[in-house]
Amino acid sequence: MTDTLHILKVALDVPLDRVFDYRTDKPNTQIGQYVVVPFGARKMIGVVVGISDTSSIESKKLKSIIRLDPEVIFDEQSFKLFQFCSQYYHYPLGQTILSAVPSRLKKINTKAMAKKYLYRLTPKAIELGVDQLPPRQTTLKRIVMALIDATLLDEASLRSMSSAWKKSIETLDEMGWIEKEEITLDDKVYIQAPIPSLNDEQKKAFDEISKTNKTFAAWLLYGITGSGKTEVYIRLIEEALKKEHAQVLVLVPEINLTPQLESRFRARFEKYMLVTLHSHLTDNERLTHWRLAKEGQAQIVIGTRLSIFTPMPHLSLIIIDEEHDASFKQQEGLRYHARDVAIFRAKSENIPIVMGTATPSLETWFNATKTKDAKKFGFLKLTSRAVLDSTLPEIKCIDISKSTVTKGFSPYLVEAIRDRLNKKEQSLIFINRRGFAPVLLCSSCQWTGRCHRCSSRLVVHLNQKRLRCHHCGHDEKMPLQCPSCGNTDLYPTGLGTQRIEETIKEFFPEARILRVDRDSTKTKEALNDLFLKMKNREIDILIGTQMLSKGHDFPYLSLVGVLDTDQALYSPDFRASERLFSQLMQVSGRAGRAKTKGEVYIQTAFPNHPIFEALKTHDYEHFANELLKERELAELSPFAFLVLLKGEAHQLAHVMQFLNDAMIHAQNLSAHVTVYNPVRPMMERLKGMERAQLVLQASSRVALQKLLNDWVPYLRENKLAQKVKWVVDVDPLEF
Ligand code: ADP
Ligand code: ZN
Ligand code: ZN
Repeated sequence: MTDTLHILKVALDVPLDRVFDYRTDKPNTQIGQYVVVPFGARKMIGVVVGISDTSSIESKKLKSIIRLDPEVIFDEQSFKLFQFCSQYYHYPLGQTILSAVPSRLKKINTKAMAKKYLYRLTPKAIELGVDQLPPRQTTLKRIVMALIDATLLDEASLRSMSSAWKKSIETLDEMGWIEKEEITLDDKVYIQAPIPSLNDEQKKAFDEISKTNKTFAAWLLYGITGSGKTEVYIRLIEEALKKEHAQVLVLVPEINLTPQLESRFRARFEKYMLVTLHSHLTDNERLTHWRLAKEGQAQIVIGTRLSIFTPMPHLSLIIIDEEHDASFKQQEGLRYHARDVAIFRAKSENIPIVMGTATPSLETWFNATKTKDAKKFGFLKLTSRAVLDSTLPEIKCIDISKSTVTKGFSPYLVEAIRDRLNKKEQSLIFINRRGFAPVLLCSSCQWTGRCHRCSSRLVVHLNQKRLRCHHCGHDEKMPLQCPSCGNTDLYPTGLGTQRIEETIKEFFPEARILRVDRDSTKTKEALNDLFLKMKNREIDILIGTQMLSKGHDFPYLSLVGVLDTDQALYSPDFRASERLFSQLMQVSGRAGRAKTKGEVYIQTAFPNHPIFEALKTHDYEHFANELLKERELAELSPFAFLVLLKGEAHQLAHVMQFLNDAMIHAQNLSAHVTVYNPVRPMMERLKGMERAQLVLQASSRVALQKLLNDWVPYLRENKLAQKVKWVVDVDPLEF
């Protein structure tokens, strides 16, 4: 033993932007290892982010770590990514790291589990080495050597080494040489669809991107749904995986990570280990998949936004499908945008990144088509649907200001649905997420039920006879009388999915109807079931909000009816029309994907709005370019960079004082950043908290970041910060 101090710099899950020094007597500690440390009166989990032999803290005051976990949870590349995120989003490093690793790792006690296994050597085994094995045990030796090489092995690989592998594993287990991990990688056999040969545009995209496969390059692959983008991804992945050990990361929106997409990839990559990372997995599964990626075993990782932080030692290519999707932005804690983080990562690892979509975000569209900066994105286009004889749907607007509407339906739409029923084709009724919840209304005084904790209306749940706030969960009995005037004639107004279902049942009592919403498609099985029923034509009319997953066709679906979407047209959020366009474009893509000609009916009071003109001609480009002009005039993203400071407190005065103070300080910090006055958001009150926010805007990202470097620490120091809950959102998506 020497007297040298080993000081660990430990990042903790606390809202303080600093690391903490602890002492250890373990000389072999590495950056990236988990520790349990005393913190005040508590024990906390932390991560080693630095090792030193000095500390600014007096040595007798230094506390020792309680436990060191042998697993190194991130490598140098991931550490760079965490540091970037912490700096760019102004979020403490410890919290950044701990929000990016699977939650099961964070529990202070992790226990091993049963069932189907992956095997790895224990630290003890690694220390002792093969030479310490009993003599003449050749199988044992072979297995241990293979595990040293590969880190993790599954049963199939072990079996291929020896028919007596089970016995050997048992022996190793008894010796304490081996650890097992549960595994749920499936072993289904996938139906091999014929592999299409690429059309000219696909080939061009593939060739261009392949040319850059050894260095950083960002590509926008722009093409409507069904134009063959996924096929291009698959070819690029095949190409990338030709390199030994290579790994590929595919990011998709949660809603698109369907069993169909997964099995399509599995079918094409049967030889490779593919794992998924998303919220439908159990913590154990997630941990196992994450470890497989981290150890370099999994060659393909398909995951949702959080998987951008997965350590992958041999990452060679990143693909982001549906680049524009808002779910890539995390809306709490570390408010990162997975696309932007992915671009940083690709740059830092010097690998290509491909972003595919039919409706690029305006930021990406701008980067790919409008800037002269050669460092921005390459632009590739697929202009037609890949399957011959599948055509684009015809899009029509129904002017509901001129037509009678019965319970939300115009007669044209009703007739169109009837026509499909007669032809034994399917219809989809699409409802925009917001604004369709029914509220209770008094016919005499216009009273409506409101939540006393939020600025929102209570939603009627007719079946349970209850009123519920969808923001805070407040729940109360439906009143029989108007609390304001005593009138007993109270009726639900507004179109909930349930009411639409009832209305359709009324119109078409013979039809087989299925209502799909977030709750009913939570599980993989439920989704699978839905696709199967559609495929088997057991459903005539589908009612849904956001179940527009890709990666599957509804071959008999030929009509999409879009009920009222107009409120998005006068939303105060400047991204509302961009979002509406991509949503309608995507939902239109559901119609007529196979041989049936599709039609889309959109009910609106503004049939001449440019957004519908653009939709009718399927002209995203024109629409995007017009929007860009507006954004330029208004100095909004992508022509300016924005930061949102949001605060909430029990008393409005506290929030306002905090924000005013923040505003004045920001104004003094930089002349290159515009600081707006604090305002109340649409939802002024939420869960009993009064809310307000202010916006910073700058044409230079550097100037903005420079200001934030001084401003955020100042906010943390502000005494009012104890009364006010606040967050800084860099590149906010919603206001
Ligand atoms: P996207 O990802 O743009 O929605 P996909 O790659 O899923 O498009 O392609 C849509 C359909 O067309 C799929 O069924 C796919 O197998 C098929 N497809 C893709 N490329 C071709 C091609 N070159 N020739 C024939 N069919 C193709
Ligand atoms: Zn009343
Ligand atoms: Zn509420």
